[in-house]
Amino acid sequence: MKIAVDLDGTISEYPEFFKVFTKAMSKTGCKIYVLTDRPPETEDVVAYELQRYGIKYDVIKITGEKSQYILEEGIKVLFDDIDQYFVDLPAEVAVFKIRQKYNFDFSERKWI
Ligand SMILES: [Mg+2]
Repeated sequence: MKIAVDLDGTISEYPEFFKVFTKAMSKTGCKIYVLTDRPPETEDVVAYELQRYGIKYDVIKITGEKSQYILEEGIKVLFDDIDQYFVDLPAEVAVFKIRQKYNFDFSERKWI
């Protein structure tokens, strides 16, 4: 199974979880894609950050067109903090939204 994980606001928010998760999933044969909308040609910086977090991954892909890339690659799962990247994905792609202060109102207890 191919699994995509966003970096900023996702891995960076819960690095301990994603460290354990990516290692475990990788052991079962899953392919881990780190999908990020960082500036082009910053793969080296991203790789350094992932190494620092202890993230196990197979591919770093820098793109703002995450949905398109996910469909092209046959990725089945996306972890991200931004709705925009979920809306064009078909129901067959599982999406896991990371809760943040900017997408969840903790006082009202609802997504925003
Ligand atoms: Mg993000």
